[in-house]
Amino acid sequence: MSKFKNITEGWTNYLNFFYRKDHVTPEIKELAKSRANICKDCPSLTASKMWTLVETVLPSGDVIEQLTDDKLAGEKIQGYKCGECGCGFPAKVFAKNEKCPLNKW
Ligand code: SF4
Repeated sequence: MSKFKNITEGWTNYLNFFYRKDHVTPEIKELAKSRANICKDCPSLTASKMWTLVETVLPSGDVIEQLTDDKLAGEKIQGYKCGECGCGFPAKVFAKNEKCPLNKW
């Protein structure tokens, strides 16, 4: 799958997760959750002004908290991107065929 399709799928699943939970499969929810729990402790997690800006218009805090099991972890990953590939959270973890550039997931 192309990078563009991954990005589109990731953002679509992310928005559906927030607005229309019944449109996101349990498989995608579990996939996103397990990935987010790995990324939140990764040294490559990088603060991103662009993604912070995106999150001022799109809902994210509650989604990330639900994904990472606890509020502290949610605050840690919110407004961040992957420093290896530049992809923003939380969309990256919602794309089924997306890969971790360091093969952590
Ligand atoms: S995708 Fe991989 S390299 Fe990037 S932040 Fe997550 S675990 Fe780290």
